[in-house]
Amino acid sequence: MLNDNLKQQLAQYLELMEGDVVITASASDDKTSQEMMELLNVIKSLSNRITIKEETLKRTPSFTLARPNEAARVTFCGVPLGHEFTSLVLALLQVSGRAPKVDEAVIKQIEKLEGPFNFETFISLTCTKCPDVVQALNMMSVINPNITHTMIDGAAFREESKDIMAVPSIFLNGEEFGSGKMTVEEIIAQLGGGIEASEINAKETFDVLVIGGGPASGAAAIYTARKGLRTGIVAERIGGQVNDTASIENFISVKETTGPEFSQNLADHIAAYDIDVMNAMRVSKIDKIDDLVHVELENGGKLTSKTLIIGTGAKWRNMNVPGEVEYKNKGVAYCPHCDGPLFEGKRVAVVGGGNSGVEAAIDLAGIVEHVTLLEFGDTLRADKVLQDRLNSLSNTEIIKSAATKELTGDDKLKALTYVDRNTNEEHTIELEGVFVQIGLVPSTEFTGDLLEKNNRGEIIVDRNGLTNVPGIFAAGDCTDQTYKQIIISMGSGATAALSAFDYLIRN
Ligand SMILES: Cc1cc2nc3c(=O)[nH]c(=O)nc-3n(C[C@H](O)[C@H](O)[C@H](O)COP(=O)(O)OP(=O)(O)OC[C@H]3O[C@@H](n4cnc5c(N)ncnc54)[C@H](O)[C@@H]3O)c2cc1C
Repeated sequence: MLNDNLKQQLAQYLELMEGDVVITASASDDKTSQEMMELLNVIKSLSNRITIKEETLKRTPSFTLARPNEAARVTFCGVPLGHEFTSLVLALLQVSGRAPKVDEAVIKQIEKLEGPFNFETFISLTCTKCPDVVQALNMMSVINPNITHTMIDGAAFREESKDIMAVPSIFLNGEEFGSGKMTVEEIIAQLGGGIEASEINAKETFDVLVIGGGPASGAAAIYTARKGLRTGIVAERIGGQVNDTASIENFISVKETTGPEFSQNLADHIAAYDIDVMNAMRVSKIDKIDDLVHVELENGGKLTSKTLIIGTGAKWRNMNVPGEVEYKNKGVAYCPHCDGPLFEGKRVAVVGGGNSGVEAAIDLAGIVEHVTLLEFGDTLRADKVLQDRLNSLSNTEIIKSAATKELTGDDKLKALTYVDRNTNEEHTIELEGVFVQIGLVPSTEFTGDLLEKNNRGEIIVDRNGLTNVPGIFAAGDCTDQTYKQIIISMGSGATAALSAFDYLIRN
């Protein structure tokens, strides 16, 4: 199960335990239970701080971790190997009393949460985004006695997870709470915690305030902080779209990396400078009054700054047809890299015949039973090389001039109806998944009428990143720059930062 090298590494980690941990295991005769017990016995053999007792718990196979004489708040259902092995090691260390590596301010925010909050997260052991959520919720459970967290491996609990169409899927007190990658700050914000409005209002005027947490904003903030300017970032999530990217191979000088790794490196780079990061916060309105930019946050907090850099990027464009919202995460998905494996052996459609749609169809064809690609126009817009590859696959079909009309089903998606734009006839395709790949929309609503935008809603900037309002700059995918890429966003973030610096020394 664990090779000698891994056992040796594990033994070194377990030496860092600061107190005793009681593992309570619920096992039966089945293979997964036996594997779980084998793993737990290996762990026990490596540390004399660990004891194991057996008891019947809510789910079998599962086990809890607790301090002696305390109720357990961290539970693993299934065998946390694969990407969740690190989650298990961290949980053992933290339950033993070892402090988690997180800001003191975040720990205080977790301690303040009232609860009771009982979380359950469905994961798959191959999901790369799942450990972030599992580790965040385990850590919160260790810090605050009003929080519990149970990780459930969908593969070990197939019946219970049969309706889960996106991982991680997070439930709070039995109700859906979220799906996809969530940081600890985002979870705290969704629970009504986080930085309070009064704390925001108490902040002094910034030299530069950056809105957004993606490559453009990260680059902008690092550049202005390096100029010695008082810099703040208000970001819904650090990393931006990169969080949803499986593999990145065109960030020049880094041959290959993953989205989560890239996002973490970006967060670490930002943290290395004196930047006031207000994470998991959304801006709702901006204004320029006299010489100051006024920024309002969704939690009611208000900030002022001498200059503003907007790097709010873009988000998946919705089809806006009946059924799309109802079946989100119950068949409707946007990220083929993330959710494709959940549709293994099923019939799916991809809506959109541009590069991302055709790429998605090619990727999915290797996993699912059949892919139908629907394109609104009468030709595909994807590069020829991609179209050729798609055409060479045996389990794909391309339907052009198709206007998606409706998605239907019961508790899960069952069918997509489209109108043939040439004949006006309606057709229905039976399927279990629809991947929407019709491009992205810029996140610029909060700028209202203050800033000039093109007909796609992108902020119009000049070659220095300046908008129509002096002192307000924009960079990255939220602007009308032609190409939307990480390296380009970072370059334009740096340009906007240097322009803001130039503006400040002249005004
Ligand atoms: C699936 C996928 C794969 C990709 N693969 C690649 C690739 O391999 N190589 C490559 O170069 N590019 C790739 N891209 C494109 C690349 O990710 C984007 O061009 C880049 O992330 C844009 O950076 P940005 O900082 O402009 O915006 P974003 O990354 O979109 O970041 C914007 C940030 O602003 C935040 N935000 C939005 N509104 C608000 C608000 N009101 N208040 C506070 N914060 C807000 C968002 O939450 C987000 O954190 C990919 C994109 C996707 C979706």
